[in-house]
Amino acid sequence: MGDAMLDVRDLRKVYEAAGRRVEAVRDLSFTVGAGELVCLVGPSGCGKTTLLRCVGGLLTPTAGEVLLRGRRVTGPPPGLAFVFQEYGRSLFPWMRVGENVELPLRQKRLTRDARRVLVADALRSVGLADTAGAYPWQLSGGMQQRVAIARALAYEPDVLLMDEPFAAVDAQTRADLEDLVRALWRERGITVLFVTHDIDEAVYLGQRVVVLSASPTVVQEELEIDLPLERDQLTTRVAPRFAELRTRVYRQIQAAKRGTAVEKTDAADQAPSAT
Ligand code: ADP
Ligand code: MG
Repeated sequence: MGDAMLDVRDLRKVYEAAGRRVEAVRDLSFTVGAGELVCLVGPSGCGKTTLLRCVGGLLTPTAGEVLLRGRRVTGPPPGLAFVFQEYGRSLFPWMRVGENVELPLRQKRLTRDARRVLVADALRSVGLADTAGAYPWQLSGGMQQRVAIARALAYEPDVLLMDEPFAAVDAQTRADLEDLVRALWRERGITVLFVTHDIDEAVYLGQRVVVLSASPTVVQEELEIDLPLERDQLTTRVAPRFAELRTRVYRQIQAAKRGTAVEKTDAADQAPSAT
């Protein structure tokens, strides 16, 4: 697992505006090791986006801190890339796909040729080698989200933060994109923090799943996903162990909604009972 790449310590975020006060994140601590793929799962509105924005330096925590390689995050750090939920709003419609992917590279001191190589390589990695000249609106939703992933990859980040990136695409595309994330993670050794409200997605993707409570958010449980490294949509999702793990996470989320804790003992090893 390596050293901690991300260290979230006692993070708290309270939104205050016009007399309204929303405690979104109460007290969150967890770490992500270098090269790990960790999924954060929790109900809608539980503070996942808030948390990820704090991790990425886009929001300042009310209390606590986020450390990236031991250094406190105070703004968007270099080496960190985001993929957001709304691909429709994250790509510029007036720029071609290639230009969209190249955009963040302008911050780096690279020659034009070096940028081109990175863009071409990233588009190839997501299976869109031929689309550099197209406009985002000429592509399907799933393809646009691939472009957003390519843009993040071209930047060659150490850490990739993904905020429900596949929530708005159809099921088949979503399955393909999940496999793409695992393949890229394995090929490139990037540290990935992947946020989703989808329990199956979290278990399918993650090496570890951090289960969040309802807002104000705390960590309900952390679970090792001891499924094989090679996963595929057909066999992994019907494996008995997959069912056990998803049941475990499901129960934790239900318990989190009620504000109770599920026994941390061996429940994950037992066959799920009918509920
Ligand atoms: P999630 O991503 O898990 O759906 P969010 O982080 O978007 O959750 O929101 C967590 C809570 O914080 C919600 O109650 C939401 O209404 C509130 N919230 C989010 N953003 C703001 C904001 N800018 N101002 C005030 N409240 C906010
Ligand atoms: Mg969100």
